[in-house]
Amino acid sequence: MDNCATGYWILLLEEEGYLRMASQMIDTVELKNKSYQCLDNCAMCCLCQPEISGEELARFKKHGLTAGLTREHTQGYTTDKPTAIKLQGGNGACHFLKDRRCTIHEQRPAFCRQFPVHVHALHRIQLNGNLSCRGITLGDSTLLKHGEEVLSSISQEHMDQVMAEVSQRLSQFQENAENYEVYQSLERLRETVTALLPNLAEEGGIGRLLAFADSEPVIQDMPSAEIVDMILGCDPADDLQNVASKGNYEHLNLDNPAGLPAYVGSDFQWLVYRSEDSQIVFYKLEPDGALEKFKEIDLQDIELMQPDPQALIVFAGYAALLNSRDQFLGYAYQVCHDQEYAYDLMTVYLGLLATTLLDLWWRSCLIGRLLGKKELDKELAEEGIRAFDMDCLDMPTMGVFF
Ligand code: SF4
Ligand code: SF4
Repeated sequence: MDNCATGYWILLLEEEGYLRMASQMIDTVELKNKSYQCLDNCAMCCLCQPEISGEELARFKKHGLTAGLTREHTQGYTTDKPTAIKLQGGNGACHFLKDRRCTIHEQRPAFCRQFPVHVHALHRIQLNGNLSCRGITLGDSTLLKHGEEVLSSISQEHMDQVMAEVSQRLSQFQENAENYEVYQSLERLRETVTALLPNLAEEGGIGRLLAFADSEPVIQDMPSAEIVDMILGCDPADDLQNVASKGNYEHLNLDNPAGLPAYVGSDFQWLVYRSEDSQIVFYKLEPDGALEKFKEIDLQDIELMQPDPQALIVFAGYAALLNSRDQFLGYAYQVCHDQEYAYDLMTVYLGLLATTLLDLWWRSCLIGRLLGKKELDKELAEEGIRAFDMDCLDMPTMGVFF
């Protein structure tokens, strides 16, 4: 960790995937045992709009790069000074991408240096690996090594400042949730899902969880084992196909081309897609933002194929990953807050897990239709995760990404 010499923070120990810094506990478990290599000709992450900090703005000014910056964000808001890089044509690749290579490699902002790692702050700092990156699991270098380099670029002062802000927000959230008698500790939330995981890898697992969350159960101090028994006692929701089709159709009904989800397959073709009329339409995306219709798939043809046993294991593994991600916990906190504490936090957490897994299942089947696959096997389930994880990590969180 070269930059430790700056003295901003000091690595004190590494144990079981936890790095303890001078004042923060940092969870790196998600990056362990994964290899990583950035792939030539991919540039999938250069389809996102990188935001820049004040410090980076000064650097861009110094190097005469401000023509590539904008005040207007693709997410629809405007700032009083440039805080993001322009996308070519408003919805294409990053302004600085040419022939799928970064032309400002030495000056690229933190978002680009970090990718496919994200640093998230909630109850602690946690490193996540963006599984939409096809370079994860390839190459000789480890993702953890990349994560450590990312950490070394963040000053202790900045980390402490962000953690102090998040901690204040969390205290307020906990106070509100306790006042409304809907609070559950993170340990109980995670322990319950861990107990449930073997059942999620079985046929009907997601349907039972969804039916349970929809029944708005009274949870309060009920032991985790009893909650799991209640879930297992539910009949699987019988309209999963409708719920998945309707939910995803609405979610993908986007006007702004800059907001369309991207899918970059093994041929590295850039595709974006959205729902139109009664179809999901895939477009080939050119760097300058031009869209060429590529494939239309009727919504009714995207059937939830039954995952084979290996695919079920992949989905259950993803459920375990969500349950370990603080960002997903922060998503549940945010939804609980947005719903004005009307539902028990356990119900919110389990309901979000169910709908997220259902979306992943549906997305895998959509990609299956695109690729002409007739079975939902391990390979397609993993491809579904590649198509989905970017959007999943983009869900709102009460925490903060650095
Ligand atoms: S998505 Fe991954 S492999 Fe592709 S350019 Fe980005 S970091 Fe490299
Ligand atoms: S600055 Fe470079 S690395 Fe970052 S998105 Fe743009 S082209 Fe890609």
